[in-house]
Amino acid sequence: MLNIHDLRVELESESGLVRAIDGMRLSIERGETFALVGESGCGKSMTALALLRLLPENGYVAGGDIRIGAGRDEVDVLGLPEAQMRSVRGGRIGMIFQEPGTSLNPVMKVGAQIVEAIETHTALRGEAARAKAIEWLTRVGIPEPERRIDDYPFRMSGGQKQRVMIAVALAAEPDFLVADEPTTALDVTIQAQILDLLKDLQRERRMGLLLITHDLAVVSGMAHRVALMYAGQIIEVAPAAEFFAAPRHPYAAALLRALPGGDRRSAPLEAIAGTVPPLTLQFSGCRFAPRCERAMPHCAGTLPELAEVAPRHQVRCLLYTPGAVVVPAAPREAAAAAAPAQAKAGAGLLEVQDLRVRFPIRGGVLQRVKGHFDAVGGVSFKVGAGETLALVGESGCGKTTTGKAIVQLLRHVSVTEGRVLLEGRDLLAMQGDELHAARRQIQIIFQDPFASLNPRMRVFDILEEGLAALQPDLTAADRRARIEKLTDQVGLRHDALGRYPHEFSGGQRQRIAIARALAVQPRLIVCDEPTSALDVSVQAQILNLLRELQRELGVSYLFITHNIGVVEYIADRVAVMQAGRIVEQGPCAEVLERPAQDYTRTLLAAVPRLQTAA
Ligand code: SF4
Repeated sequence: MLNIHDLRVELESESGLVRAIDGMRLSIERGETFALVGESGCGKSMTALALLRLLPENGYVAGGDIRIGAGRDEVDVLGLPEAQMRSVRGGRIGMIFQEPGTSLNPVMKVGAQIVEAIETHTALRGEAARAKAIEWLTRVGIPEPERRIDDYPFRMSGGQKQRVMIAVALAAEPDFLVADEPTTALDVTIQAQILDLLKDLQRERRMGLLLITHDLAVVSGMAHRVALMYAGQIIEVAPAAEFFAAPRHPYAAALLRALPGGDRRSAPLEAIAGTVPPLTLQFSGCRFAPRCERAMPHCAGTLPELAEVAPRHQVRCLLYTPGAVVVPAAPREAAAAAAPAQAKAGAGLLEVQDLRVRFPIRGGVLQRVKGHFDAVGGVSFKVGAGETLALVGESGCGKTTTGKAIVQLLRHVSVTEGRVLLEGRDLLAMQGDELHAARRQIQIIFQDPFASLNPRMRVFDILEEGLAALQPDLTAADRRARIEKLTDQVGLRHDALGRYPHEFSGGQRQRIAIARALAVQPRLIVCDEPTSALDVSVQAQILNLLRELQRELGVSYLFITHNIGVVEYIADRVAVMQAGRIVEQGPCAEVLERPAQDYTRTLLAAVPRLQTAA
């Protein structure tokens, strides 16, 4: 169905030539779901773009071959003139992108977009094409398709837009579908529906499906085979069950061990040291060697090839090269004993009572308030000293609004009622100096470490800003000493203080954001999805850091997340939110293992789970 042979893609950049894909070889069969996985920047999305000849302007195919179909139907994708390529794109190869909001045309009715795909790639025209479009909307589960066909995309929810996107892609009846992170922007319950739909349609039409994702749990439930990429190369290809049960490449094994989960609570996660090398380098040895715990002396100077280790299972590692003198893996240290339980939920630190947040809805020329939208409709919970409470729920359920209201970030934009008691004193009732002093006690870490740091300030100034505002009595020397200690605590080097945020990776930026939150010695930190923008190996480092800091400093966390593995690993208690209310709360193990509410059960059932033997 699809054969890629020795594909090389290069990008010209200011820092030099980037070898984004370096010698990729893979083939996908009819009816097969093949997953391409790896951390950001490893080359997986670039593979999809090369396949469709949609590379960015500074990119080009430097060599190799891509063929679709077999026999008389075979098409040489890279050799086609652009005019013919247009009918391959969409016609032979369908594509679903990550963000349904931006991939549909906002000024065209959804039906017209499906009809366009049908008329371009099939023989149907006019009413027949419209009838077919209604059929597709029905197939992808859009209710009342006869009416919704004339809606514009903005009238549809995120999940519905992704369904329409799937309908557009499949209406052209492609042989092969590329789905690039098709559910990353969606909630878990919608994700489960979309994945089931893709599975059904693929089985029914015997399409080849190339699924590109960073979510290993999604892959384990969907794929027949998996290819793991690292630094522009495939380093392991295997049947999915074999890959997850016994990964062979040291990076694959380390990646699976870095995933958080309830069974790993008793010890720090095994983070992978170091970072992915820049793809501007000319490699003369194994790309993973500087981070590999099984590296042998010759790994740094020998380029490993993909070698067959079992039927349909290939690995790019010198451990599997015939004749290699293999150093056995160092025995894994027994998991460190669990940290002594703290006096969790003992002394109450934060008590939220019947918190309600309403946002004004404005309209008209003068933007007068026309009504209110209830984002949080009366939530109550407690967070003890040194405790972590996880707040989980789907997007739009009010968890981030709750976090922001507690940190007093919504005072001027919303109507906030109820009580937010910090050691018995109500933050909502405070004003002026009293509020200023209390603010020091509660800090926040945001989801996106790229957007939350001022790009024009050096790291030292970012960390000093809060200190100077909230602890004006400190001298300049005290502030510098405090900031240097903080950089040690979050695992950054002192020379980082003189640099700007853009010089750091996502994980390092999140460390800076954590240092900024810790600078004023808060008692509670609201962590709003602090690891969801990070790769698995970096996520492990940040989760370890947060737990270590909690043990050292006794800080409490209100941890907002949708990742149940993270909740199981880090939280003592969990509160489940739905439509602005808490529907269930209790100790983590109890709520996750024996949920009492239907909504919690539905939410947990929709979460893809990965059982690994690693
Ligand atoms: Fe590790 Fe050597 Fe294998 Fe590379 S080739 S993954 S350094 S053992």
